[in-house]
Amino acid sequence: MSEFPHKTEYNRLMKSHIKPIRIELPTGLDVGPVNCYLFTEPEPILVDCGVGTTESWEALLAALAQYSLTPADLRRVVITHPHIDHSGQAAKIAALSDCQVWIADLGYEWLVDPKKMFGLRADYYRDHFLREAGIPKELSEMVQAYYVYVGSDTTPVPADSVQTFKVGDWLEMGGANWQVLHMPGHARHQTCFYQPESQQFLAADMLLHKTPTPIVERPLPNQPRQPSLPILMESLSRCEALEIDTVYPGHGEPFQNHRELIQKQCQRIHRRKGETFALIQQGHHTAYDLMNQMYAHHPPAFRFAGLWMLIGYLDLLLAEGKIGVETVDGVWRYSVNK
Ligand SMILES: [Zn+2]
Repeated sequence: MSEFPHKTEYNRLMKSHIKPIRIELPTGLDVGPVNCYLFTEPEPILVDCGVGTTESWEALLAALAQYSLTPADLRRVVITHPHIDHSGQAAKIAALSDCQVWIADLGYEWLVDPKKMFGLRADYYRDHFLREAGIPKELSEMVQAYYVYVGSDTTPVPADSVQTFKVGDWLEMGGANWQVLHMPGHARHQTCFYQPESQQFLAADMLLHKTPTPIVERPLPNQPRQPSLPILMESLSRCEALEIDTVYPGHGEPFQNHRELIQKQCQRIHRRKGETFALIQQGHHTAYDLMNQMYAHHPPAFRFAGLWMLIGYLDLLLAEGKIGVETVDGVWRYSVNK
């Protein structure tokens, strides 16, 4: 009779058993390739699934084939957050198989009715957020049109193929239990999955090599806009508190030493926040003006990508009471508190 392996050896075997397999898929987007993670045993499960393009689909087929699998073999596709680079192929996989698409209840509507949800975002941006940020009409209309396009170009997942879970639930993947953690900031509805015994962390776009973008979300009915960067930083400190061996990010190579990365990112955020404060002191008062100053080294067409972080620095300064904001002719005007 063979002896029960030494506990350390047992843990090592456990870790190697449940290790998610990284599949990198092209997106054709500025963000670069996206990661999906495959568990082959005890049943094939895919976490996130890439954008809905032919190139991405072919790359997924080729990657699954290495494990003698096709999309029809997948029992579950688990979505970390319903952004098109993570959930774009879910409808196609569901149509080809009995596969259930799992997502937190928080993100359910984006999966089953992307046209409506992106449309609501586009309206909020046009009528409120971009106007208040002082973005010129032409640029605002381009952004709005982009979201309308994404909404109409994203295939909805039929409701009967969707299975929701809740924050705090445990998902069985790779023969182990992963806890669902709510990690808002990049997206309000983002979830990460944590496996406590092996200390593995499926991080979605929460922990990335580059600080995730704090996307401005449409406020819930009768509520003020939620400040995405302060929320992201709260999520970062919750990640910092977790005992993590390996982080499996939504983009880029898996990594260790998550605390070092978080500290570096927080330091940078505070430095950039200080630079934003200095620009307000120098007499720049609208988000648009500040964006053009902050990203002056980029051509105008590329500066808009910086707006999310800039709004975040302003939200942090507001929360700290260093600056105030008033609305003048429908546009936010920031000034230094005396
Ligand atoms: Zn992403």
